[in-house]
Amino acid sequence: MASNRTFTMIKPDAVAANNIGPILSMITEAGFKVVAMKYTKLSHEQAGNFYDVHRDRPFFGELVEFMSRGPIVAAILEKDNAIEDFRKLIGATNPAQAEEGTIRKRFATSIGENAVHGSDSDDNAKIEGDFFFSQLERF
Ligand code: GDP
Repeated sequence: MASNRTFTMIKPDAVAANNIGPILSMITEAGFKVVAMKYTKLSHEQAGNFYDVHRDRPFFGELVEFMSRGPIVAAILEKDNAIEDFRKLIGATNPAQAEEGTIRKRFATSIGENAVHGSDSDDNAKIEGDFFFSQLERF
């Protein structure tokens, strides 16, 4: 059965460009409810742990530098078919390949600095949500 929760981050590039508001509008207009949310900043070590699966990829160093360079917005979102629908809303990893109307098409500037994160599976949504939020912080 498809999960009804996903995890997202508005990444440092989009926060620095003052795009928190319009990105949250696109998310809520698409029907996602906010279950948990915080404005925070990852240390270098925390960013490395969050992206641990990519540790052996050539872009890992760049990814960790980028994700720890400024504040982010982290959130757990709820909607039927959340994982798939949210991946559709954010668009392809590389904004050059992202469809019109997606968050990355509108706000991402490169394959690395691509404005938002979205979980790719139910299991990862749970792991990633648990990375940032206690049960007391979910509503
Ligand atoms: P996602 O699920 O669409 O976020 O994509 P991936 O799981 O493949 O990659 C995780 C994140 O790593 C992406 O969102 C990018 O921020 C970054 N990333 C992926 N590929 C590259 C790349 O070729 N270069 C750089 N600098 N970053 C990348």
